[in-house]
Amino acid sequence: MTAVHAPGVPVIEDGELVSTNPATGAEAGRFPVADEEDVRRSVARAGEAARWWAGLGHAGRKERLLRWRSLIANRMTEIAELVNREGGKPVADGIVETTAAIEHIDWAARNARRVLGLRRVRSRLVLAEFSAHLEYQPYGVIGVIGPWNYPVVTPIGSLAYALAAGNAVVFKPSEYTPAVGQWLADTFAEVVPEHPVLQVVHGLGDVGAALCRSGVAKVAFTGSTATGKKVMAACAETLTPVLIEAGGKDAMIVDADANLDAAAEACVWGGLMNAGQTCIGIERVYAVEPVYDAFVAKVVEKAGRLTVGDGEDAEIGPITMPSQIEIIRRHIDDAIARGGRAVLGGPEAVQPPYVHPTILVDVPEDSAAVREETFGPTLTISRVRDSDEAVALVNAVPYGLGGSVFGRRNAMSIARRLRSGMAAVNSVITFVGMSTLPFGGVGDSGFGRIHGDDGLREFGRAKAITKRRGPSLMPAMTFERTPAQVGRIAKTIKMIYGRG
Ligand code: NDP
Repeated sequence: MTAVHAPGVPVIEDGELVSTNPATGAEAGRFPVADEEDVRRSVARAGEAARWWAGLGHAGRKERLLRWRSLIANRMTEIAELVNREGGKPVADGIVETTAAIEHIDWAARNARRVLGLRRVRSRLVLAEFSAHLEYQPYGVIGVIGPWNYPVVTPIGSLAYALAAGNAVVFKPSEYTPAVGQWLADTFAEVVPEHPVLQVVHGLGDVGAALCRSGVAKVAFTGSTATGKKVMAACAETLTPVLIEAGGKDAMIVDADANLDAAAEACVWGGLMNAGQTCIGIERVYAVEPVYDAFVAKVVEKAGRLTVGDGEDAEIGPITMPSQIEIIRRHIDDAIARGGRAVLGGPEAVQPPYVHPTILVDVPEDSAAVREETFGPTLTISRVRDSDEAVALVNAVPYGLGGSVFGRRNAMSIARRLRSGMAAVNSVITFVGMSTLPFGGVGDSGFGRIHGDDGLREFGRAKAITKRRGPSLMPAMTFERTPAQVGRIAKTIKMIYGRG
C-alpha cells in the first residue's frame, strides 16, 4: 500500500527513497537507500574502477567523456523533463542548465591533459643542474555531494572535472533530486560500461555523512553553509580534503551610467528564474540615487508580467523544497514589519507551493531579507548615494559567491572590489557557463574552485619531480661538500640576491 505524502517531501518507504513533484505530488522515482556499509562497498568498488580509469590516460578519458557529452546533448529534452517532473523547474530552465553542463564536460575533457598532464617547468639558477617536472595525479575516489536546485549542472561542475582528472566518483545527490542523479550515472554507464567509474548512493543527509567517512580521497560538497560545516567537521576526522561550494546572497549594483532596461531585464531574470532558488541568483540590488526610481519601476513592470505555476508556459515554478516556503515567508514578513514596502507581491505572494514575484524596497540592511539566503523569487532594492556605498553594503554580508554590476565607466573596477569569487559586468550569472573561468566563493560561500584550470587542479594532487641533468658545480645538498664550496655558495647567493 502506498501512503499519501506531502508533495515534494522525500520519504523513505520500504527501504526506498521516494521522490515526488512539489506541485503535483506525482512520483518521480524510487531508489534503494544506502546504509553505511553500502557506501563503503561503493567506494571500494570505485577504488578498483579508479585504477582502470586512470590507466586509460587523458586520451582514453577524453574520448569517453566526449561521448557522454554527446549523449546528454542528444537527450537534453529528456533530462530537462525529468528535472521538471522531479523538482518542478520549468523545462526551459532545465534546458539552459543542461546546456551549461554539456559545455563543462566538453571543456574539462579537452583541457585536462594541458592543465594536469606531465610537463617541464623552468629551473632556476640555484638548481640549474636539475630539470623540474610537474603533473597533477588523480586522487583516486572523489565523493561528490550535491544540492537539488541545479541537479544537473551543479554536480557536473564537480563530476566532469573530477572524472577528467582521472578519478572515479561516488555521488550522493540531494534527497530531493535522486532521479536526476541516477540519470547522470546511468547515462555515464552507457558510454563507460566496463567499470563503475561513476556511482550514485541514495538517501538522506546521513548517507552524505557516511560518504565523508567512507575513505574517499576528497569530498566535493555543494549545498548550504550549515551542512558544509558538518561535512568539513566529518572530513577533519580523517584529514580528508574538502571543496565547499556553499550558499550566497549575491547582489547587483546599478551605477548612474547603466543601461537601465538591460539592468532591469537581467535583474528580474537573475533574481527570479528558477523561482529564485539559485546560489548565484541576485537577491539584493543597490541602485544609485539618480537612477533608482526609474530602475525600480522597470523591474516591477517586468517582474509583474511573469507567469507562475506548473503549466508548460510557466516561467516561475513551485518552490522545490517545501520547508523553504516558511523561510521566504519569514523574510518577507520581517522586511515589512521593519519598515520595508512591497512594491510587487508581498506576504500574499506566498501561496504554497508557489511564491509570486516580490520586490521589496526600504528594507533595513540588517534584516533577514538582506543578510540571509532567501532562496525565493524575491528581491530587495536599496537606494544608495554612489557606487562606493553600494560596494560597502554588498561586502557587508558573510557570503561572497558572485555578483553583478551594471554601468559603463566604473563597472569593471566596481566588479573587482566586490568581495566575491565571481562577478558579471552588464549581465548576470554568465560566469557559471564560462568553462574557462573558475567558480567558487569566499567567506561563508566556501572555498576551492570548480570549472576552468583551477577546477581541474582541484581534483589532482600536484606531483613535483626534480631530475638531475648534470653535475653540481656548487654541491650543497651533500655531506661531501667542502668548506670552500660552501663559501662559494654564500658568495654567489649574495651576488645574485643581495643587491637592491
Ligand atoms: P543542503 O546543505 O541541505 O544539502 C546539500 C547536500 O548535502 C544534500 O545532498 C544533502 O542530503 C547532503 N547532506 C545533508 N546533511 C549532510 C551531512 N551531515 N553530511 C553530508 N552531507 C549531508 O543544501 P540544499 O540541497 O538545500 O541546497 C541548497 C543550498 O546549496 C543553498 O544554500 C545554495 O546556495 C547552495 N548551492 C551552492 C552552489 C555553489 O556552487 N556554491 C550551487 C548550488 C547550490 P539530503 O538532501 O539528503 O539532506
